[in-house]
Amino acid sequence: MGLLSLGTPLPWDKSQQYTELIRHHGIEQFLALYNKMKDKKTECLLFGDEVEYMVIFMDHNNKNAKLSLRVSEIFSELAKEEAEAENDPKKTVQSGWRPEYARYMLEGTPGTPFGNRLVDLTRVESSMKLRRQTVMKYLRANETVVTVTSFPRLGCLGEFLEPHFEPGGPVAKSLFVPDEVINPHPRFPTLTANIRTRRGSKVAINMPIFHDIKTPKPFIDPTIPWNRDKFPEDREAASGAALPDHIYMDAMSFGMGSCCLQITFQTRTIGDARRLYDQLATLTPIMLALTAAAPIWRGYLSDTDCRWDVIASSVDDRTKEERGLEPLKNNKFVINKSRYDSIDTYISTDARLKPEYNDLPLVYDESIYKKLIDNGIDDLLARHLAHLFIRDPLVIYDELLHQDNETSTDHFENIQSTNWQTVRFKPPPPNSNIGWRVEFRSMEVQITDFENAAFAIFIALLTRIILVYGLNFYIPISKVDQNMGIAHKRGAALNEEFWFRKSIYDDPVPPAGGCHKGHHVSEINGANLTNGSTNAKWEKMTIDRIINGDDGHFIGLIPLIKRYLDTSDIDHDTRRQLDRYLDLVSKRASDTSIPTGNLPTTATWIREFVRSHPKYNYDSVVSQEINYDLFKTIEKIQTGQTKVPAFLDGFEI
Ligand code: ADP
Ligand code: MG
Ligand code: MG
Repeated sequence: MGLLSLGTPLPWDKSQQYTELIRHHGIEQFLALYNKMKDKKTECLLFGDEVEYMVIFMDHNNKNAKLSLRVSEIFSELAKEEAEAENDPKKTVQSGWRPEYARYMLEGTPGTPFGNRLVDLTRVESSMKLRRQTVMKYLRANETVVTVTSFPRLGCLGEFLEPHFEPGGPVAKSLFVPDEVINPHPRFPTLTANIRTRRGSKVAINMPIFHDIKTPKPFIDPTIPWNRDKFPEDREAASGAALPDHIYMDAMSFGMGSCCLQITFQTRTIGDARRLYDQLATLTPIMLALTAAAPIWRGYLSDTDCRWDVIASSVDDRTKEERGLEPLKNNKFVINKSRYDSIDTYISTDARLKPEYNDLPLVYDESIYKKLIDNGIDDLLARHLAHLFIRDPLVIYDELLHQDNETSTDHFENIQSTNWQTVRFKPPPPNSNIGWRVEFRSMEVQITDFENAAFAIFIALLTRIILVYGLNFYIPISKVDQNMGIAHKRGAALNEEFWFRKSIYDDPVPPAGGCHKGHHVSEINGANLTNGSTNAKWEKMTIDRIINGDDGHFIGLIPLIKRYLDTSDIDHDTRRQLDRYLDLVSKRASDTSIPTGNLPTTATWIREFVRSHPKYNYDSVVSQEINYDLFKTIEKIQTGQTKVPAFLDGFEI
């Protein structure tokens, strides 16, 4: 996430009067920026990753791995080191640090983005390693920094924080977590409370329980304090918010307190950024499934492998009216998704974007759409923005209400940056030499730097082949949504099939500069998009087939990347290193090249770790001791002390 503003964020009852003002000026700011930047060209395809970390306190006496709330102290040291390097011309900034939602989290980026030569890709892993070592310098004995997507025992009975706090504070009013888990910067508690207040209830997150041999059926969670009577909201659990056979969670920290791996790419032109946005969007569910790393929530094995749905629900600020549960009275729209979700509309000016591919009914603000169109924005981009702008700004700073729309984009960013979607189209920041960018946001963070580097590099190479070969991954966007659902299924990477375009090489890219008029699904009458049709341009494929190809029918993304590398000017050493990263991705996707289970996803590996632990009772419960042993093993894996044959052997560089 970006830098935090300093100021006084307004509570929801004071914010509401300004939401229209922020939206109005946000669009003015976008227009001013767009007019200045629309023709901006940059030479370099720069990119950078964001890795999110948790700091763990290992209580060896009690065999308990806990989340450390000491990260703000560690962060101050990191920020000091970063600022010193910035101000010293003899030093280079090696890594960038940002605070994150939870008080046990950190986000690290490379000091400067990576360049566009293939050899620059080989810097990613060393940059990630250096970041981890940098944090480690500031850790105390018994603390460790890990890249784990979800902390298995967040919100369990007993102690899971160091130091311990009792659950339930006025901000989140959670039955399970204390407010002390939230980063104390005013932005974060305000975001939490405003989402809850706007929604009119606590957020309700329900992930299906993994029914193991001895898990009770139905599963009614005995650890929920059903009868707590501290806040009126305490009654929500028993009044239907907590579903049977599900793991119930009631606070933003369950979602925003999980960690991910994001990659941002700068393109040469706005057109390339729009093209990349669409093409990458189709891959977000596939990469979510392949990087799946979150099989445990609140101490229980879940029947899902990914974090995405948890975060989506954890920041779902829609009112009952907006969720379609009550007739519209005070709100303007019924909205089908959380503000953290998959994208609803493609935006490229690529003529291969057929109108029928934008087949989700798009909810957008008509007056904002009109304003954008009247000011020369094309239909597709206007729809995209008018869709983002159906949301309210969630954190408004009193001091920042009035700004110069020619020079500031704060109001625009307020709404843009709280639409947490699978891909993000990022305009250049004002007064910078940064170009148009796209962020790939669906991947879960992996345990080792090697794996995180491998996935970051894979996506970076994909962007090259998308642009160089003019690849066409378009499928109807509703199918991308179906793929998001499929991605969550347990073991989806190997067991499920995903909608994918059969011929990704067809329809060569039209000559640059051709900006076609936007279309809308309602314009098509009787378009035949039936999936069963043998003529359909898409079908269901395994991830193995998508990534590795098959005999002659579908080329596969890695063979295409290798073809690209074969024809690139690249030295032997660089190629060898890149091949090792590609091997990891290839083998994660594959169920045939090695005996099944040899290279499972992180989620499968964690699940199996739990299920084969001698203390596991086959009742879905991940006890304090199992969790402790898991983190002991993770610590050893990531520092290279243990080679786990299950998924790393032979792949370490
Ligand atoms: P966010 O919008 O997620 O807060 P940031 O702006 O903090 O994103 O940066 C995300 C990533 O973008 C970082 O890895 C950073 O190195 C990278 N980045 C910064 N400048 C550029 C650029 N010009 N082109 C591509 N990536 C960049
Ligand atoms: Mg982040
Ligand atoms: Mg980001």
